[in-house]
Amino acid sequence: MQIDINLKDISRNYKVYIDELKELKIDTKVAIITNSKVGGLHLDSLLAVLKCKEKFIITLPDGEEYKNLKSIEEVLEQLFVSRLDRSSVIIAFGGGVISDMAGFVASIYQRGIRFINIPTTLLAQVDASVGGKTGVNNKFGKNLIGSFYQPSAVYCESKFLQTLPKREFAAGVAEAIKMAVMFDKEMFEWLEGANLEEKTNLQQLIYKSVFLKAKAVEADEREKGVRAVLNYGHTFAHVIENETGYKRFLHGEAVAIGINMANSLAVKLGLLTDLDRDRIKNLLIKFNLPVEYKIADLDVFYDAFFLDKKSENSKIKFILPNGIGGYEIRQDISKDIVMQVLSEFK
Ligand code: NAD
Repeated sequence: MQIDINLKDISRNYKVYIDELKELKIDTKVAIITNSKVGGLHLDSLLAVLKCKEKFIITLPDGEEYKNLKSIEEVLEQLFVSRLDRSSVIIAFGGGVISDMAGFVASIYQRGIRFINIPTTLLAQVDASVGGKTGVNNKFGKNLIGSFYQPSAVYCESKFLQTLPKREFAAGVAEAIKMAVMFDKEMFEWLEGANLEEKTNLQQLIYKSVFLKAKAVEADEREKGVRAVLNYGHTFAHVIENETGYKRFLHGEAVAIGINMANSLAVKLGLLTDLDRDRIKNLLIKFNLPVEYKIADLDVFYDAFFLDKKSENSKIKFILPNGIGGYEIRQDISKDIVMQVLSEFK
């Protein structure tokens, strides 16, 4: 299966291939950027299909805490030592942490060289590997340093997901549910009955999610409008992740809770029925995702919304479902209403 990503500048168009990586022929030098865990599990199977002039493996330690400028400097150093030139190719081989970092490195090494994403987590296959947002974290927050830089191809191989821990798998499903609720009622209904342990269903999930992400990216590559809809659930999730020190929940788990909170706000505003809120909640629960969170201090939680980089001009941007399969972006919701909704989670 293939999905075309068609951008305004057609020279940057690329394809996402699902389960089609039989042979990867590149006629230049290649640097594979991976981490210790993914490299240990799957590097051999990548090397078996890769044919290129010369290859270098750059292995980073595993973890979001290494998604920083120090790692970027180390990778750049190794690229120079390996004498990669402007025609060389970087392969990002790992989850979203690796694809964000490898993409960023590719965007700045000698002012930009090609990179290919081979995502190995479900979250990266359905979301992070497509769309060209790259970057790293710093002490001021997540993903605050980076660039928009599209890959030249993406290969999503469902076989890599066989070694993914269950929680990581579920975290990826949360991002797919996000897209279904925002854009595609049919996909939502399909998910209600789907068994994702079956390979064809998993392939369908990846296909449908990438397709929806592609449409949002094609319409709005730089996130000035509809692409922001992909942040559904994230306004709440970022506060929860911050409050819990990024330790208690995986990102996708915090998104699941955030979706449930955003839905309560949508119900309050008459955008979503109680019935549909419960349907979405039940779907999240079906895939072993958390939906509840006890807010310790409502005022502290509310104030934390303003630390989010998506809060523009001191206005909180809420992405809300307008029924299942529709969305609304709202920046005009009074503190009073938001506080009433937060108090449901006390
Ligand atoms: P991750 O890259 O940290 O991977 C999660 C864990 O799974 C890691 O321990 C990793 O080593 C391990 N892993 C990866 N593949 C595996 C496999 N096949 N088998 C076993 N273990 C495996 O996290 P993630 O959830 O993939 O991505 C989260 C990151 O993605 C965050 O940094 C987030 O900011 C970023 N992100 C970016 C975008 C974007 O559009 N650029 C979108 C969403 C998320």
